[in-house]
Amino acid sequence: MSHVLIIGAGGVGRVVTHKCVMNKKTFTKITLASRRIQSCKTIADELPLNAINIEEIDADNTHELAELIKRIGAQIVINVALPYQDLTIMDACLLTNIPYLDTANYEHPDEAKFEYKEQWAKDKAFKEKGLMALLGSGFDPGVTNVFCAYAQKHYFDEIHSIDILDCNAGDHGYAFATNFNPEINLREVSAKGRYWEEGKWIETEPMEIKMLWDYPEIGPKDSYLLYHEEMESLIKHIKGLKRIRFFMTFGESYLSHMKCLENVGMLGIKEVEHKGQKIIPMEFLKTLLPDPASLGPRTKGLTNIGIVAEGLKDGKKKKIYIYQVSDHEKCYAQVKSQGVSYTTGVPAMIGAKLMIEGKWSGEGVFNMEEFDPDVFMHELSQQGLPWKIKELN
Ligand code: NDP
Repeated sequence: MSHVLIIGAGGVGRVVTHKCVMNKKTFTKITLASRRIQSCKTIADELPLNAINIEEIDADNTHELAELIKRIGAQIVINVALPYQDLTIMDACLLTNIPYLDTANYEHPDEAKFEYKEQWAKDKAFKEKGLMALLGSGFDPGVTNVFCAYAQKHYFDEIHSIDILDCNAGDHGYAFATNFNPEINLREVSAKGRYWEEGKWIETEPMEIKMLWDYPEIGPKDSYLLYHEEMESLIKHIKGLKRIRFFMTFGESYLSHMKCLENVGMLGIKEVEHKGQKIIPMEFLKTLLPDPASLGPRTKGLTNIGIVAEGLKDGKKKKIYIYQVSDHEKCYAQVKSQGVSYTTGVPAMIGAKLMIEGKWSGEGVFNMEEFDPDVFMHELSQQGLPWKIKELN
């Protein structure tokens, strides 16, 4: 039905590509494009002969990308490159009149800010062209937004509080490594924490707020309050919301390594001079750390990401937990990627599938919770991310 252009042949790009190939009825033609053709070739070699086409592209260059889209006749873009490319890729979609989807909000390479402002500002342009852009179709953001919309639709008249709970209990055997792009990951976790309460954002020091949460199928884990981008859109779209927080688990070893790297300046994103050369410490660190893609075959254990929502139904208090558990080894066996890439790549494919099938449609720039959650929840169960609901009262 549609020719999809997947941009970014990294960990998430691998999963999206494998999953699109598994959904050939929807994705009748698949092109994978990335900065280095070799990254695309590696993924193409894992798939049946001629299952996908590959292209080299620098997605920072809007005009080159628009040329590529026109030349190959792509009909939708799944952007799983880095958040730095979001705006240029959205612009290329506008130039060529095709819909857009991504999994992470735009970030400027020189400034670690997590906000939708610049992407939401393109709403008018997408509306004028009658095109749809779907933002944050990964797991968190992504499935967590859909879980909130599902809770709102089926369980509550008003949701008063949401906690998003992200646990990766996988073990890759290294003292320190990140499960997705190290630069993006470390920028996120070393930033100040923030949550929203009674109409205001409250800032915390990094990792200042900690709680012990008992994750089903995993057990109790220390979980730290972070800022996470889906909160910015959920406060606009969830009725009656008074508080929203995001927690992520970190092991002792991860935290002590990160603290030490931060203390010596290795998480810096500003250029420093080293023996006459300019380097960015965080980029250099990325070169030293294991490639997240290499963690796949060595990672064992489970992930559990979900939401706890509390509020009112028919005048009575209600509290529910919706969550999804994935097994790193099973993910690797299916698509040669560990669970973090898997749980991001599957929802990216599903978002595009629903757009192509017209089940999620609109004109403008949208976040996930703005659409009917039922069709997405159904696809999650079908496409390898079965979820569960627990009533907590
Ligand atoms: P990787 O670093 O593994 O992959 C990113 C890929 O993007 C690389 O393969 C790289 O290409 C490619 N790329 C980088 N710059 C360009 C460019 N200018 N033009 C074309 N291609 C480029 O990252 P991940 O796969 O781990 O993450 C991908 C995205 O998913 C990120 O935006 C990340 O923030 C997001 N994410 C979202 C999550 C969610 O739940 N919502 C969770 C995890 C990640 P090459 O190899 O060719 O050099």
